[in-house]
Amino acid sequence: AKANGKNTYTYFEDSYNQMLTDKIELQSELRRAIENEEFVLFYQAQMDISKKKLVGFEALIRWNHPIKGLLNPVDFIYLAEESGLIIPIGKWALKCACKQLKEWSDMGYTDITMSVNLSARQFRDENFVQTILEIIEETGIDPSRLELEITESIALDNLEYTIEVIKELNKIGVKFSLDDFGTGYSAMSYLKRLPISNVKIDKSFLDTVLEDTTDQKIIQAIINLAYNLDLQVIAEGVEQLEHEQLLQRLNCNMAQGYLYSKPVPKEKAEDLLNSSDLM
Ligand code: C2E
Ligand code: CA
Ligand code: CA
Ligand code: CA
Repeated sequence: AKANGKNTYTYFEDSYNQMLTDKIELQSELRRAIENEEFVLFYQAQMDISKKKLVGFEALIRWNHPIKGLLNPVDFIYLAEESGLIIPIGKWALKCACKQLKEWSDMGYTDITMSVNLSARQFRDENFVQTILEIIEETGIDPSRLELEITESIALDNLEYTIEVIKELNKIGVKFSLDDFGTGYSAMSYLKRLPISNVKIDKSFLDTVLEDTTDQKIIQAIINLAYNLDLQVIAEGVEQLEHEQLLQRLNCNMAQGYLYSKPVPKEKAEDLLNSSDLM
C-alpha cells in the first residue's frame, strides 16, 4: 500500500509539473501572441427585437494560435488575467474595436454601438481612464457609440471607485453595461448608485426559462427593476424563437444570441450590416 501511495504521489507530482509547464509555455506564447498580432475580434449582433433592427455589436476576442487554431476566451483569458497580460491584450481589443467602429461609421453606419468587455485588472489599472481617452482620440470615434461591459464583481469590488471612473467617462459620453446580470449578488440596492446605461440578463436564465416559470418571474423582475431605474435591458443567449416571443411579452426589446448571429469575423459582420439596410 505504501509503494502504491508513492506511485500515486509521483504520478500526481508529474501531472502537476506538466500542468505548470503547460501553463508557463502558454504564458510565453501569450506574450508572443501580442507581438505577432495573433488576436482577432469577432462581432456578435445586438438586436432591437421590437424594430427587428441591428443596433450594435459586442466585440469578443479570439486567439488565432499558430498550432492550436482559433481559441476561445475560456482557453486563455484566465491566464492573461493572472499574468497581467490582460492589460496589453485588453488595450489591443479596445483599440481594434474602436477602429472597426470608426470604419463602419465612415461607411455610413453611424447609429450602431460597439460593446467591449473589460476585465477587473483593466478597470482597476490606474491608467484606465487615460487609456480610453487616448484610444477615442486616436481612432476618432464618437464616444457615445462606445459601451464598456463590466461584471457585478468588478463593479462592487470598490463601489466608490467604480462610480468615480464611470462618471469620468460618462462625461464624454462613454456608456457602461452590467454584464452577466443576476448571477452575482442578491442585494441590488447598489444598482441605483451605479451610473450605468444597460444591464445584460445572463444567459443562464434564458437556458431554462421556457420550462421554468420561476425563471420567467426573475427575468420579469429584472426587467421591471431596470426600467424603474431608467436602464436598458439586453437579454443574452437568445437561441430560440420562443425566447424572443417571451421577451417581447415581457417588454424586453434588446436581445443578443445565436438566433440572430453567432460572433462572426469582420467581413461577416459587414454582411449583417448590409442586409440590415434592406429590412
Ligand atoms: P460574455 O461577455 O458573457 O460574452 C457572451 C458569451 O456567450 C460569448 O462567449 C458568446 O459567444 C456567447 N454567446 C452569445 N450568444 C450565445 C447563445 O445564444 N448561445 C450560447 N450558447 N452562447 C452564446 P465567448 O465569445 O466565448 O466569450 C466568453 C467570455 O470571454 C465573455 O463572456 C467575456 O467575459 C470574455 N471576453 C471575450 N472577449 C473579451 C475581451 O476582449 N476582453 C475581456 N476582458 N474579456 C473578454
Ligand atoms: Ca459581455
Ligand atoms: Ca454576458
Ligand atoms: Ca459571461
